Amino acid sequence: MTRISFEYFPPKSDAARATLLETTTPGLQALQPEFFSVTYGAGGSTRDNTLEMVSALNQRGVSVAPHLSFGGDDGATIAGMLQHYRELGISRLVALRGDMPSGMAGGGQLVHASELVRFIREQTGDHFHIEVAAYPEIHPQAESYDSDLKHLKAKLAAGADSAITQYFYNVESYFYFLDQCAAIGIDKPIYAGIMPITNFANLARFSRNCGAEIPRWICQRIEGYGEDQDSIRQFGIEVVSQLCQTLLESGCPGIHFYTMNQLEPTRQIRQNLAI
Ligand code: FAD
Repeated sequence: MTRISFEYFPPKSDAARATLLETTTPGLQALQPEFFSVTYGAGGSTRDNTLEMVSALNQRGVSVAPHLSFGGDDGATIAGMLQHYRELGISRLVALRGDMPSGMAGGGQLVHASELVRFIREQTGDHFHIEVAAYPEIHPQAESYDSDLKHLKAKLAAGADSAITQYFYNVESYFYFLDQCAAIGIDKPIYAGIMPITNFANLARFSRNCGAEIPRWICQRIEGYGEDQDSIRQFGIEVVSQLCQTLLESGCPGIHFYTMNQLEPTRQIRQNLAI
């Protein structure tokens, strides 16, 4: 059975919160995802907002997976959050090192995700299903392709159950990555993270920072549309639907959509897929 999941970030206004809970979530829930995840700003920068959104989704009967990272926090703070999530009945987490938001760079030491996974297992045993991050196009701070693979293996060996990738548009990078993971003995599922194309200028900027490549032909096509947002949106849906279909037909175990808190175009892409 193909796994589908959706990612949110904590909304920044009451109006955005209302839209997310009352329109976007029911619309996406109709697509029968396994869970919704909610991002977490390392250093606790979104702690209250992440907790609030997790609780609100949970209260509506939505299966929710909070993202979590140490940032500069101590063990007692993280243990308290784990306890809180257990009391809410949450059973899945996405464990990350995180990136310190700009302006908080001096606010604490980042702790590798493998240490967080170990900590969660020590504190809560097998209670949580733990997801970690994986990078088919290599994490931008990795020493090398091989060292990044080795660190992914360490996160999974520390007790994570599965991984979700950074988004990519080169399907070959994902399948090559799966082969390389298998070659070093990684046998847990690695789900494809997929970013629909919404705001292309923001996507291009973000992609430069996180090391995700947007193929030249996609950039050229979108630039050719100029300010014609409808054509950009339509092209983005076609390209990403095709990417997802190829992934699923070639053995990808499932897709995690970075929804950017928008119902469309994730819904249209999902509806285009023959699963
Ligand atoms: P790690 O696994 O710790 O790896 C980080 C880097 O360190 C890599 O280069 C790795 O090769 C290297 N490394 C790992 N272990 C060691 C070690 N023991 N010694 C030396 N080097 C090591 N960011 C947020 O801030 N909030 C979020 O909610 C969030 N959600 C995400 C969800 C997904 C699915 C993905 C793919 C990314 C997400 N990110 C999020 C971004 C992520 O936090 C960044 O990519 C971050 O830079 C790395 O996090 P990580 O958990 O992969 O780190």
